[in-house]
Amino acid sequence: MAASRFLGDRSIDHVVLERGEVANSWRTERWDSLRLLTPNWQSRLPGLRYEGPDPDGYMTVGEVTEHITRFASASGAPVRTGVNVTSVRRAGDEYDVTSDGVALRCQAVVIASGACNQPTVPGLATAVPPAVEQLTPFDYRSPEKLPDGGVLVVGASATGVQLAAELQRSGRPVTLSVGEHVRLPRTYRGRDVLWWMDASGVWDQRYDELEDLTRARRLPSPQLVGTAERATLDLNALTSMGVELVGRWAAVRDGRALFSGGLRNMFSLADLKMVRLLDTFDEWARTSGRDAEVGPPERFPPTRVPESTRLQLDLQSGEIRAIVWATGFRPDYGWLDVPVVDAKGQLRHEGGVVDSPGLYALGLPVLRRRKSTFIYGIEDDAREVTDHLARYLALPG
Ligand SMILES: Cc1cc2nc3c(=O)[nH]c(=O)nc-3n(C[C@H](O)[C@H](O)[C@H](O)COP(=O)(O)OP(=O)(O)OC[C@H]3O[C@@H](n4cnc5c(N)ncnc54)[C@H](O)[C@@H]3O)c2cc1C
Repeated sequence: MAASRFLGDRSIDHVVLERGEVANSWRTERWDSLRLLTPNWQSRLPGLRYEGPDPDGYMTVGEVTEHITRFASASGAPVRTGVNVTSVRRAGDEYDVTSDGVALRCQAVVIASGACNQPTVPGLATAVPPAVEQLTPFDYRSPEKLPDGGVLVVGASATGVQLAAELQRSGRPVTLSVGEHVRLPRTYRGRDVLWWMDASGVWDQRYDELEDLTRARRLPSPQLVGTAERATLDLNALTSMGVELVGRWAAVRDGRALFSGGLRNMFSLADLKMVRLLDTFDEWARTSGRDAEVGPPERFPPTRVPESTRLQLDLQSGEIRAIVWATGFRPDYGWLDVPVVDAKGQLRHEGGVVDSPGLYALGLPVLRRRKSTFIYGIEDDAREVTDHLARYLALPG
C-alpha cells in the first residue's frame, strides 16, 4: 500500500492484490499479547502519522491492524482483497499474474508479499519424540493453549525472549535455547533505543554502504519488547525471572536434545556488539551537540553466565511438554514463476530492483536501509523503488 501511494501520486495505473484482508499478517499470524517493539511514533506510513495520545507507547496487534486499515482507506489504495496470487510469469516484456479469480497482464510487478510468511523450523524437529507438542509462533496464541509443564523455547531473538517471558510468567518452567542474538536495552540515556537508531543515522545506513550486506540481512531481530514500563527484556532479565538458559540446539539423539556449550563466548560477543552500538550513539550525541538533551552515558552489566549449563535434556522424561520454535521466519515465493529466487529461498535483488526487468520488491530485511524491515522504513524504500519503476515504465519500449 505504501508503493500504491507513490504509484498513485504519479498516476500510474495499478492494483494491489491481497489474499486475505488488509493487514492480513497482523490479523492471522500473531500471538494474542504481542505489541509492536517499535514505538507508536515510528508507525509512520506515507501520509499517515501516529496522532494518538501516547507516541512513546507500543501498539497492540489490534491497534496495528486498525492503523494499517486506516492507511488503506486514507490512501485510497485500489486493494482487491481475497485474491490469492498463484503465479507470476514473464510474458514477453510483461508479466502474467494469475490468481484464483483474476488474470492480469502488467508491465511491472512489486512483490510486497512479506518477509515472514512461514516460520523457519530446523530439520531436527522431526526427531523430537511425538509426546512433546511442537508449536511455531504462527500456532502460538497464549500460554493456556499449551499443556501444563515445562516448555523449551528455541531461539532468543525478539519472538523467543517475548514468548519465554510470557510462558514463565504463566507458571510453566521455561528453558531457553540461545543462539546468536542481538542484545539491546529498551531505553538508553532516557530515550527509546530505537529513537537512537533513528536519530544517530544507524537505521538510515544504506544497503550499498554496508561492509557485509549478506550478514546484515541475516541479523536476528533485537531482544526487545514493547511494554508500558519500557522494560528491557535481555537474557539477564529472563534469568532473573527464573528462565533456564541453554546453548544452541545442535542435535537430537535417543530422544535427548543436545545443546552446544560456549554460552560465555556467545554472551560476550552480544555484549561487545551492544557496547559498540552504544559507543556509536554517544559519539553521535557528542559530535552533533545533543549531549545536553539526553541523560548521561550508561553501561549495562554483562550477560550473566549460568553457574552450570545443561548440555542435554531428556525429551522423553516428561520434563518438557512443549517446544516453541522461535527460530525465525522466511518468505514464501512458491507462487513466483520467475527464476529470481536463490538456493536459500531469498529473492535476488539490488535495493529492491529484482533481477528481472520490471520486477520490484519491498518489505525485505535491509532492502535499501537498515530500517527497511520495519513499518517505519517503508516510506523511503517505497518512494525510491517506485521512482525506479516509473523510470523503467518510461523507457522507450
Ligand atoms: C512477529 C513479528 C513481529 C513484528 N514486529 C514488528 C514491530 O514491532 N515493528 C515493525 O515495524 N515491524 C514489525 N514486524 C515486521 C512487520 O511484519 C513489518 O514491519 C510489516 O508488517 C511488513 O509489512 P509487509 O506489507 O511488507 O508484509 P506483511 O505484513 O507480511 O504483508 C504481506 C501481505 O501479502 C499477502 N500475500 C502474501 N502472499 C500473497 C499471495 N501469493 N497473493 C496475495 N497476497 C499475498 C499477505 O496475506 C500479507 O497481507 C514484525 C514481524 C513479525 C513476524
